[in-house]
Order: sequence, then C-alpha cells, then structure tokens
Amino acid sequence: MANIGLKDVRKIYSGGVEAIKGVSLDIKDGEMIVLVGPSGCGKSTLLRMVAGLESISSGEVTIADKRVNELEPAERDIAMVFQNYALYPHMSVRQNLAYGLKNRNTPKDEIDSRILEAARALEIEPFLDRKPRQLSGGQRQRVAMGRAIVRKPSVFLFDEPLSNLDAKLRVQMRVEIRRLQRALATTSIYVTHDQMEAMTLADRLVVLNSGRIEQVGTPIELYEKP
Ligand code: ADP
Ligand code: ADP
Repeated sequence: MANIGLKDVRKIYSGGVEAIKGVSLDIKDGEMIVLVGPSGCGKSTLLRMVAGLESISSGEVTIADKRVNELEPAERDIAMVFQNYALYPHMSVRQNLAYGLKNRNTPKDEIDSRILEAARALEIEPFLDRKPRQLSGGQRQRVAMGRAIVRKPSVFLFDEPLSNLDAKLRVQMRVEIRRLQRALATTSIYVTHDQMEAMTLADRLVVLNSGRIEQVGTPIELYEKP
C-alpha cells in the first residue's frame, strides 16, 4: 500500500517537446485513478515518470512519500501491465509468474503458493505449463495480470492493458481487474481510451489535455454534472 504524490511535475523531452506542463495530484492509498485524454496528451509519459522509467524535468513524484528517482530498484515496488502483454516467450506461464518473485529472493514454497493463488483467481491454472504462444490473447492478458498480482506490489500501473482484446473479453477482464485491485487495495493508475472502462474502473478520473489536468473527479461528478 502506498500513496502517490505528483507536485508540479513537468516533462520536457530532449527535442524540446513539453509533454507534461505542471501536473499536481494526490493519489490515496488503495485508490484507482483512471487517466484519460486524447492521444499525445502525455498519459504514457506521466505513467513512465511514476514508474521511474522517465526522468522528471522539474517537480516531484513520490511513492509512499519517497521521491521515485531516489528509490533503489529493489524498493521500486511497482507492477506494470501493458497492452502487448510483455511475457517472456521462451518461458512457461509458471516461469513467467515466478520470474519477478525469484528476482526478489522469495522462498520457493511462497512462490508456489502465490502462483497457485493467482492462477486460481484468474482461471489460468490449466495453462501453467504452456508457453505464451500456446495461449489466446485473452489468456495471455490474464497471465500478464497474474504476473502483476503475484508480486503483491504497492502500486499497479496499467497502460491500455485491454485494448488488444475483443469487446466481450474486455468487459470480462475489466470486471476482474476491478475485483482484484479492490481486493488487494493496490494504489493504481490505469490509462485507457475506453470510456466504459474508465467509468467502471475509476475511483477518480483524471482528464489530461496537452500535458495539463483538465478535470478530476469521480465518474458521477464528471459524467452526471449538467
Ligand atoms: P482520442 O481521439 O485519442 O480517442 P478523445 O478526445 O476521444 O481522444 O478522448 C479519449 C477518452 O478520454 C474518451 O474516450 C473519454 O473517455 C475521455 N474523455 C475525454 N474528455 C473527457 C471529459 N471531458 N470528461 C471525461 N472523459 C473524457
Ligand atoms: P499519450 O500517451 O497521451 O498518447 P505521450 O506521453 O506518449 O502521450 O506523448 C506526449 C507528448 O510527448 C507527445 O507530443 C509525444 O510526441 C511526445 N513524446 C513522447 N515520447 C517522446 C520521446 N521519447 N521523445 C520526444 N517526445 C516524446
């Protein structure tokens, strides 16, 4: 569990593009923030800065009140889920799920029990010994989600995780993501283009436009205001 703080955050890329122009936001412990806005408005940039994958030009990004650029890699307790799944193709599903835990020196029986728990929650137990290429897109996305939850991280970052799935699977998965995120109470930022996804997942929606926050509020506040 961890709160996330953004304080007057700016990002100017080396070519001079000002992608983020002074964003401030306090994300509460266990809160699910959905970040929406037109393409090019800075959603991925902001997500990557929280992940510590992109330098911050000015301002401050904190997780549990520590500046992300000062966190050691082992303290960077964040799991990301992408639209292209980003699974290791040469590893089985079980090995993909175990990978992040092994890197953190988790004991073997703890790894096994966490994998089993995640596999049951996501109904991927029958596929544990398959390779990603032997799975459908929907099954791969469940594995990607499984890899995020086995770590029990304090932060989830989702970058349009469901946009490669068909409409029926998207609805199914968004229900599961909401259930798992609530159950684990993991502080989350979720980037999407899908309005239904945004409305069903968000505790609060953040509308970004040209690198600035245009609106922040609950789905009811944003969509039911006259
Ligand atoms: P794109 O052209 O890249 O799809 P849009 O301008 O259609 O970008 O916006 C993308 C998403 O952002 C929309 O699906 C919608 O969910 C959300 N969005 C945009 N503006 C608002 C707003 N004023 N309030 C709430 N959500 C918004
Ligand atoms: P979104 O995720 O909302 O589509 P991005 O964060 O990808 O937006 O991009 C925001 C702006 O920053 C865009 O103008 C984009 O062209 C620019 N940008 C993104 N990545 C880079 C980069 N590595 N170098 C230079 N400019 C970039």
